[in-house]
Amino acid sequence: LASKLFHPTPTVIEIDGCKIGGGNIGIIAGPCAVESEEQLMTIAALTKKHGAGFLRGGAFKPRTSPYSFQGLGEEGLKLLKKAKEVNGMPIVTEVMDHEDFDLVAEYADILQIGARNMQNFSLLKKAGKTNKPILLKRGLSATIEEFLMAAEYIMSEGNLRIILCERGIRTFETYTRNTLDLSAIPVIKELSHLPIIVDPSHATGKWAMVEPLSKAAIAVGADGLMIEVHHQPELALCDGAQSLKPAKFGRLMEAINKISEAL
Ligand code: PEP
Ligand code: MN
Repeated sequence: LASKLFHPTPTVIEIDGCKIGGGNIGIIAGPCAVESEEQLMTIAALTKKHGAGFLRGGAFKPRTSPYSFQGLGEEGLKLLKKAKEVNGMPIVTEVMDHEDFDLVAEYADILQIGARNMQNFSLLKKAGKTNKPILLKRGLSATIEEFLMAAEYIMSEGNLRIILCERGIRTFETYTRNTLDLSAIPVIKELSHLPIIVDPSHATGKWAMVEPLSKAAIAVGADGLMIEVHHQPELALCDGAQSLKPAKFGRLMEAINKISEAL
């Protein structure tokens, strides 16, 4: 179902007029995690002003350490809803397990399945039974075939609205958090009709690398970007080192618009 042989024209995901795929560049921006009302409202308003279509923010966070901030849970979802009401941006947020699935689905416009859950097959099947689009992130060490098969799990249950996300893979290189596999974009374009976006924030772990790799991602044909933005990255409870300040994000959006117009 994910193959171009089944569906030759590109799939376009549209929510409230915001589109990803089929020549529409979708920009998802926001903090790694929802931390407080003040934090989320500030960042949402600024990302909107600078041209983001969708607002991201984790309420349930998959952290490497159990002692790290785990997210605000339902309170975080309520804040996302409020930010949507104020700014009119559709919400992208992660669902980590079955237990929270229906709750997260009530609030999210797009449900994110994170890299660590890419092969959580029972979660993928559950995602296949909802009517919400799914943002599926590539697993840390998943091949492109495994990535597309994970999408196939969701689609085989009836949900055909999937956005794939390349977010870097594990390699021997340790300078960056992961290694962004830019070649995955043209490969997926060759094999699938599904939109594919790039997350340069988790791919690199370093804010200074987000701009060059965002530009490169659009140049190689990505259908959009997911970028972490924080107004006070040094105080962020999660992933501050890879978060852009809003003004920097704004300048990046201008550059992205020029590149996509030139393509
Ligand atoms: C995220 O986008 O919040 C996230 C945790 O990313 P990943 O699953 O790619 O690590
Ligand atoms: Mn993050």
